[in-house]
Amino acid sequence: PLPLAIFPDRINSCGLNMNIEGMRTPFFNALNQLKDKQWQASPTIEAHSTKPHNVMSPQDRRHLVGQVVFADPTLTEHAITRAQSAFVAWRDTPVELRAQALEKLADLLEYHQSEFVSLCTREAGKLLQDGIDEVREAVDFCRYYANEGRRLMAPTTLPGYTGELNTLQAQGRGPFVCISPWNFPLAIFLGQVSAALVTGNTVLAKPAEQTCLIAQLATELAHKAGIPPEVLQLLPGEGATVGATLTSDPRIAGVCFTGSTQTAMAINQTLAQRSGAMIPLIAETGGQNAMIVDSSALPEQVVKDVVRAAFQSAGQRCSALRVLYLQEDIAERVLTLLTGAMAELSVGDPALWSTDVGPVIDKKAQAGLMAHLEAMQAAGKTIIAQTPLPDACHQGEFIAPTAIEIAAISELSKEHFGPILHVIRFKAADIDAVIDDINNTGYGLTLGIHSRNATFAEHIAKRANVGNVYINRDQIGAMVGVQPFGGQGLSGTGPKAGGPHYLTRFITEKTISNNT
Ligand code: GLU
Repeated sequence: PLPLAIFPDRINSCGLNMNIEGMRTPFFNALNQLKDKQWQASPTIEAHSTKPHNVMSPQDRRHLVGQVVFADPTLTEHAITRAQSAFVAWRDTPVELRAQALEKLADLLEYHQSEFVSLCTREAGKLLQDGIDEVREAVDFCRYYANEGRRLMAPTTLPGYTGELNTLQAQGRGPFVCISPWNFPLAIFLGQVSAALVTGNTVLAKPAEQTCLIAQLATELAHKAGIPPEVLQLLPGEGATVGATLTSDPRIAGVCFTGSTQTAMAINQTLAQRSGAMIPLIAETGGQNAMIVDSSALPEQVVKDVVRAAFQSAGQRCSALRVLYLQEDIAERVLTLLTGAMAELSVGDPALWSTDVGPVIDKKAQAGLMAHLEAMQAAGKTIIAQTPLPDACHQGEFIAPTAIEIAAISELSKEHFGPILHVIRFKAADIDAVIDDINNTGYGLTLGIHSRNATFAEHIAKRANVGNVYINRDQIGAMVGVQPFGGQGLSGTGPKAGGPHYLTRFITEKTISNNT
């Protein structure tokens, strides 16, 4: 096993303290100045004549945020050629210089925090607090992987029993494809990119088509921090064109993907069928995340954690709570409190500090979630609670936070990526069957447990096939270096993002035995 990186002096980024007037006022002034700014994004490689797309806000489809030029397959192939030519020089650049560039990037991200938060609300419909957290996480990824890179890339001297010198050296693999999602348009984008860069790979970054403006700003800052433009190239575009061209090219050396399980499976197949070497796929995908609450739990704490885990970020986190299991004896009490809490949620403009739940990402997402709710109701399921949508929400892609009772997790044939919570009651004697049902979904990302019975909690934590277990707290917001994040089964390949083994999939190893 690899030695764990211990950084006694490493402290996660602390973001903004909104209780401090000297932080709050300049932040809101900056947001106010940026509220109508028009942003632009285009492929790094060259300006070309393709018509730009307008980027509209999810909370108000009349609000223009900027324009983005998409790459096409020809441009994508040129970018791969360029990434390949730049590879050896970047691989052979000392890791210390690559790590320092990432640390410089982290500083620049903090400096440009207001621009990112503004873009997070306008382009991605994220709440202000989510935007602040997003910058913090991106900063943490850059600093954490910089240090992890220094550790992993240092040559190791091994025993040489016959007098020969044996060394083990980690190296970058080549042009790496990073395909990132819209729900963490900065943090996951830069998490993937910084991991690939520090280990000596050149990067072809395809952000989600919904959030290219954020990716553009992050890429510009990375270039400013000293990453050469041919080493990190942004390729805004559609998965079906840019993504497919990238993943089927025999010259690429690895793929890092976060998104749906279905897309990860398709990439896996493309990689298996293409010519060229066998290369790694690091995939972080969906979940059917549950929380199990027994009768010893504290109902008020449960409700607070359920509301955060199910509805924060409009439920658009892969870690979000989808299925709440309540032991019968405590169910009514929890559901009464939950109904009250949901009635108090404020749904609306993510740029207001008072908003609790913003929009979902786009019309397609909204339509899918509405269809699911309609199908559940048509099947006779009871809505336990639903937060009313204010009139202003009708200009955007909103879904009313909803809690709906179902009988079994197997009724959900897929993940529903939004503010919809499914509730199941269970009997204490059936707890093992509950865990089996959760395991049988095939997903294995997060699991919440609420109980004051330590033996019960440990039993569940041990039996559940999931990547991240949270006991007596909510199950979102994993911190870099503190709660390494990622699932198993249909939820992803591992290794965990923000953990000590993540970088190992981005490298190849060379042993040199020198008998000179
Ligand atoms: N790491 C995030 C969390 O713990 C979720 C990441 C994702 O949605 O992909 O909430």
